Amino acid sequence: MSKKYIFVAGGVMSGVGKGTAAASIAKILQHKGYEITAVKIDPYINIDAGTMNPVEHGEVFVTNDGDETDQDVGSYERFLERPIPSGNYMTTGRVYLSVINRERALKYNGKCVEVVPHVPQEVIDRIKKAATANKADITIIEIGGTVGEYQNILFLEAARMMKLANPKDVLTILVSYLPIPKSVGEMKSKPTQYASRTLNETGLQADFILARSEEPVDEPRRRKLSVFCNIDPGSVISSPDVSSIYLVPALYEEQHLGEKILKKLHLKPKKDEMTDWINWANQIQTYNTEVKIGIIGKYFSTGSFVLSDVYISVIEAIKHAAWANNRKPVLTWLNSEDYEQDPKKVKELSNFDGIVIPGGFGNRGVEGKISAIKYIRENKIPYLGLCYGMQLATVEFARHVAGMKDANTTEINPKTTHPVIHIMPEQEKKLLALDYGGTMRLGAYPCILKEGTKSCDAYSPMLHASCSMLHVSERHRHRYEFNNQYREELEKAGLIIAGTSPDGKIVEIIELKNHPFFVASQFHPEFQSWPQTPHPLFRDFIKAAIK
Ligand code: GLN
Repeated sequence: MSKKYIFVAGGVMSGVGKGTAAASIAKILQHKGYEITAVKIDPYINIDAGTMNPVEHGEVFVTNDGDETDQDVGSYERFLERPIPSGNYMTTGRVYLSVINRERALKYNGKCVEVVPHVPQEVIDRIKKAATANKADITIIEIGGTVGEYQNILFLEAARMMKLANPKDVLTILVSYLPIPKSVGEMKSKPTQYASRTLNETGLQADFILARSEEPVDEPRRRKLSVFCNIDPGSVISSPDVSSIYLVPALYEEQHLGEKILKKLHLKPKKDEMTDWINWANQIQTYNTEVKIGIIGKYFSTGSFVLSDVYISVIEAIKHAAWANNRKPVLTWLNSEDYEQDPKKVKELSNFDGIVIPGGFGNRGVEGKISAIKYIRENKIPYLGLCYGMQLATVEFARHVAGMKDANTTEINPKTTHPVIHIMPEQEKKLLALDYGGTMRLGAYPCILKEGTKSCDAYSPMLHASCSMLHVSERHRHRYEFNNQYREELEKAGLIIAGTSPDGKIVEIIELKNHPFFVASQFHPEFQSWPQTPHPLFRDFIKAAIK
């Protein structure tokens, strides 16, 4: 069969759940028996998401092959339950860079290289390459931003060119928003009508409109959208807010979206395996017993709003683990700077069943995190530290247990007499050369576990072998690491090195004795937690939190 492509574009405004929509469409088609992959296009100039402030951009999702991508790539992985490679992610910067490099290498054979068609052609080449690399029958391509923005025009142009070349193999889905203004009390369809027209201006016609709103779309609105957006009423898919993103595939399936898409692509369902996922997604709504988890971070506030998107994979991983333990996850954002202004405030940590300190950079809020870790250690609150959360746990232990008063990471204090966390040698060169973009220690690296540790206990059911025999593979994003000069001294003081790189040189996991659960990893386990298969460290952290 010829390869099929589905473009997902947004209408009216950002933040309506285009990523979840794309991932859910991918899921339902996967369960109809097709090989599916998903591509994310971000319209900004940055080569990757790694150089952007998280508050501005949201989470940087790291792939196995070490790409720093958009959080939507994480959604695709979680819904498709398989890794997405770097080739499935592109930005305007990446696309232009290839075109320019090719021009410099004389690969355009002396032709005048133009924005159109050469730039959209590069986009098309990349999409097709991703489809081939993933052996995908159907590729979902999510175009970042909303229609009508200047920035994503060339990507919509790529979609138009692909549709023109193979009309039977390419679909366009518009995920649009229908507001219900309080003062009016009625769902308004006009912004979506405009979005649909704007899409038409690019030469594309929506094959489906996913009508995002607080409420389901009713008949009068469906008819209006049908007439004004030039679409049959059955292709308007009602997509009201639901309590969990994992319910969205079920919502689509109730409206037979999978079959309708396949029909328009001239395909038939090969099987129908959605029931298991739908049952699970309904089941997790029924858990009433809570597990209360606090997440200590600093990237939460933007103006008067709280932005938890920065830690989206961490949040999802906690949820997956809670559900696997038949619990309802209740998450609270804790700002580490509060513990600096008011040290007594750390006592609030006793109100939680467990605490997570996720990754981070720079010195804002660091001393607050260290005070929190001290309290967590002393009061035996289950703790999971991720990357910076591991490095700062090492600093805390060195300071307060091993007696190294000014211990620190050199990221914060390059002059400390006890640099228990220091820059990795190859990273130092990169920083001196101002070579910042995409140069951290990134992507999957193997880790071996020590027998008899909590980490070993967590992973071993998955490994079916003794820990010292097998490697686990985990994803990384860091420049600093545990300083091996302090290994002996810290181990003597009671720190457990529970995981290292296979050559033993890089400390990957630390643990504490005499504590219900104190595990902190240099890697980011949250990037490999799947809804029905939680990450073992998160699963056991929640288990301990419940106890
Ligand atoms: N800032 C630390 C480092 O660069 C931790 C990074 C992280 O938490 N992702 O090593």
